[in-house]
Parts: sequence; C-alpha cells; structure tokens
Amino acid sequence: MPSPIPDVVLIGGGIMSAHLGAMLKRLDPRLAIEVFEAADEPGRESSDGWNNAGTGHAGLCELNYTPPPATAGAPVDVTKALEIFARFEQSRQFWSYAVAHGLAPRPAEWIRAVPHLSFVRGDAPAAFLRARQAALAAHPLFRTMEFTAEREVLQRWAPLLVEGRAAGPLAATRIAAGTDVNFGELSRRLLGWLGAQEGCRVHTGHRVTQVRRADAGWELVVRHLDSGESRPMRTRFVFIGAGGGTIPLLRATGLPVARGLAAFPIGGQWLVCDNPAVVARHFGKVYGSPPPDSGALGGPHLDVRHLHGKRVLLFGPFATWTAKFLHRTGRYTDLPSSIGADNLGTLIRTGLHNPVLVRFLAQQALQRMESRLAALRDYYPEARTEDWRLVDAGIRVQALKQADAGRLYFGTEVVTAPDGSLAALLGASPGASVSANIALQVVQTCFPEHLRTLDGQARMKAMLPTFDVDLGQIATAAAYAGRSAEIDEWLQLRGA
Ligand SMILES: Cc1cc2nc3c(=O)[nH]c(=O)nc-3n(C[C@H](O)[C@H](O)[C@H](O)COP(=O)(O)OP(=O)(O)OC[C@H]3O[C@@H](n4cnc5c(N)ncnc54)[C@H](O)[C@@H]3O)c2cc1C
Repeated sequence: MPSPIPDVVLIGGGIMSAHLGAMLKRLDPRLAIEVFEAADEPGRESSDGWNNAGTGHAGLCELNYTPPPATAGAPVDVTKALEIFARFEQSRQFWSYAVAHGLAPRPAEWIRAVPHLSFVRGDAPAAFLRARQAALAAHPLFRTMEFTAEREVLQRWAPLLVEGRAAGPLAATRIAAGTDVNFGELSRRLLGWLGAQEGCRVHTGHRVTQVRRADAGWELVVRHLDSGESRPMRTRFVFIGAGGGTIPLLRATGLPVARGLAAFPIGGQWLVCDNPAVVARHFGKVYGSPPPDSGALGGPHLDVRHLHGKRVLLFGPFATWTAKFLHRTGRYTDLPSSIGADNLGTLIRTGLHNPVLVRFLAQQALQRMESRLAALRDYYPEARTEDWRLVDAGIRVQALKQADAGRLYFGTEVVTAPDGSLAALLGASPGASVSANIALQVVQTCFPEHLRTLDGQARMKAMLPTFDVDLGQIATAAAYAGRSAEIDEWLQLRGA
C-alpha cells in the first residue's frame, strides 16, 4: 500500500526517473516512491526507441567529443571521450546489475552490440581521424579501435558508404564494442519492476501541473488526464525528470536556479529505411564530422536500429522548428506560455549571441526531402529515394540560463534545491547513455546519508562498483578489463 506522503516523487517516466527510482529503491528498500507520467505508457517521449538514435554514447565514434586541435599536427585531446566512456561504463555496470537481479530482464530485447564507426572524406579530415585513432587506441579502453584509409577495408566494414562513391580520399575508424540501446524499453522494464515493489507505484496518464514549497518538502498538484480531476499531494523529495516538461515545472518551484531560465525546443526528424535488401547490407552506427555551424547538435549519422523486433536503418536527426516541448503530450502553446518577463531577455540574448546556430537551424528547418536525401548520399551514395521515408524524432528542449549571458551549453546538468529536497535534470546530451551516472549524482547530492552507512555503501557498490571512483580513474582502474567482460556477459553483448 503506497504511503500517504511518499518519500520520493519522480515526475516523468523516462529513462532518467527509471534509473533514479530503481537505484533509490535498491539503496533503501523502505523508501515509498511514486512516479507520475503524463503519457499512457512510460518511456514514450525522448527515451522511446524511435525518438532518439539509441547510441550508447561512449566516445567511440562521436567526433564532437574530440575536436580537431587548433594547430595541425598537435595531439588530439581525448579527455572528453574518456569521460563519456567512463560515464557510459557506469550505465553498463548498473544495467548488468539490473539484469542479474531481475530489474530489467532479457537484455537482448533492449541492448545489442553494434560496431561504432567514424567516417570522413578529404585529406585533412583523414589525417585528423588517423591522429584521433592513434591517441585513443593508445588507451586500454579504445585499444581495439581500428583505422583504415583503404576502400577495400571500408567496403568490408560498411559497403553502403563506398559503393558508387567517386574517387577521393576517405578514412574511417571502427570499434566492435559499440552498442545500440532501446532506452524506452529499458525505462519500461525498470519502472515495471519499481511499480511492483512494496510502497511504490507508477501512475500513467497523470500530469503534474504544479510544484510548490510545503513544510518539510513539496506540494504537487497532479491531474488525472482521463477524468480531468486534480488533487494535491505532499512529498519529501521531488525529482523533475520530465524531459521537455522539466523547465516549466522547475520555474514553478520558484527556486533561485530557475530565475530567468528559458527553454527553446528543437524538433527532430529521421529518414527511415525498412527495405530488407538495403538494411541487411549495413551493420553499424556511422558518425561523421559535425557540420561547422551545428554546435553540439552534431551532424546526421547512419544507424542500424532494432525496433519492435525489426532491423531498420535511420539517418538523421534533422532539426525542425516546433513550439511543443513534448512530442506526444506537448502543445503548440508550450513555448509561448513558457515566456515571462523574467526570461524574455534570456531568450533574446541567446538568439543574438548565436547567429550562426540560428542560421543553421533555419536552414535545417527549411530543408526539403531532396536536400535530406542529398545529405544521406554523402554517406550512402546509392541511396534510392523510394527506400526512405521521413518520420518524427524526439524534441530536445535546450535550457537557456540567465547567468550564461547568451552562451549555449549542451551538456546535461543536475540542478538541486539548496536543502537537497528537489532535483531536476536539464539538457539532453550525452543523454540517456549516462543515466546511471545522473542518478548517482542525485543520490550523492540529495541522499548523502545513504552513502555514509556501511550497508548503503555496500548496496551502491553492488549496483555501481565505481560509484566512489573518480571518473578519470575508472578508465585506468586495473579491474576494468575483467569487469567489462563480465558485464558483456550479463548484457549478452558479443563482439559484432
Ligand atoms: C533526436 C534525438 C536523438 C538522441 N539520441 C541519443 C542517443 O543516441 N543516445 C543517447 O544516449 N541519448 C540520445 N538522446 C537524448 C535522450 O533521448 C534523452 O537524454 C533521454 O531520453 C532523456 O530522458 P528523460 O527521462 O529525461 O526524458 P523523457 O524520456 O522525455 O521522459 C520524460 C517523461 O516525462 C513526462 N512528462 C513531462 N512532463 C510531465 C508532467 N508535467 N507530468 C508528468 N509527466 C510528465 C513525459 O511524458 C516523458 O515520458 C537523443 C535525443 C533526441 C531528441
């Protein structure tokens, strides 16, 4: 029976709440936890398989984590790639624990081994890719990354990239240890487990419309979307893991961190191919150089995906304009109604400060099918128009902070109330891949007492063996190799 005042309320049933809820309940089985999700099923917004690329971001193929050095020939800085690897490794640790303990069974239905490739054309990009591979492969974690500038090798790795391509320099790296993850499916597994635990419930079709201070915690207003009935409820701790719906709720809290905070949504679209003859010929996730104006939005990539039991190819995402903050349950009034006297200046300043990005977004949004197909043919020259259709992807809602004075930051950030009674997640990149690390950050900041006891430490160690290891050290820890092989076994990941 759920407690009248739950210890924890998680707003949103996406991958972030799913990780935090499961982690907290395993850390302290006495906790009463309630989840409120506006949609009729968890994991159907940004975390849904179709709404994101499913890349287990580990710094293996994404060139934006290793920017080219300012002077040609200087060593490539791989610090960011190592950090992402270490954070993703924590997700893998948590997931193998979740499989082993029945929180997320049948891993083959939500995670697969898929090679990650980086692909470039031209002499200078090829030289950079060579230097990047040399810098990464010197590290034990990226030891198996291969480089080629030979068409015959690339033809074996990814024939669609080569066939029909005019002569000219090209290069690629490949690492078999990449993954494709269905974060929506994983969210539903973890929340399915959580909802079945004593004192816990997952309510779908319930939208949280208000979050305000109350004695020793927070008062929320929750609307049951079918009946239209609203009811107040209290809790001691709130996590706003509402994806695109987070900023309006955070603004409602009145916390200093939310003052002047604005939100700007960027929609997404994919080209999808389900012609079995084409799909069967590509097995990998291929990332190229991000377009120069795109900031951390990055460029499109060619991905094999396993969705609804079917193998498909996705190319994108392409950015689009939207005024909605949520793909499924959002409204076109989301953007206008999020603007107030305190954050209008933040929005305008950001637009003025980033003309290049604004122009890039405008160009993307005005694209026609033919220009999207032209972008696809940069990767897959023989792509046929009739094999590809356009579908919507998820919406990224960019947080714009007053204090950033117009500068844009694309990472993920956990913000908390000074007394630790509320946490919220801003940002979308590297996103779902680092959800275990995000849940850990919330626990460390808002539930530190649980990590002071020997029992709490042992429980956390079982879920995340590296929870108390500095991120920079995870990558060098001697035990890494053995542990990683064990994780692969639990997750049923065999090298592709
Ligand atoms: C195009 C695209 C590609 C991406 N590719 C990748 C990738 O390859 N790898 C990767 O790791 N990440 C990727 N991401 C990022 C990743 O999808 C997100 O970081 C992640 O899914 C966010 O999870 P979440 O739980 O915070 O949000 P969501 O999954 O959006 O969940 C939030 C939930 O809150 C609910 N909600 C909202 N408001 C309310 C409310 N008021 N009351 C109740 N419920 C509410 C929503 O219905 C939703 O279910 C991508 C994102 C996009 C848009």
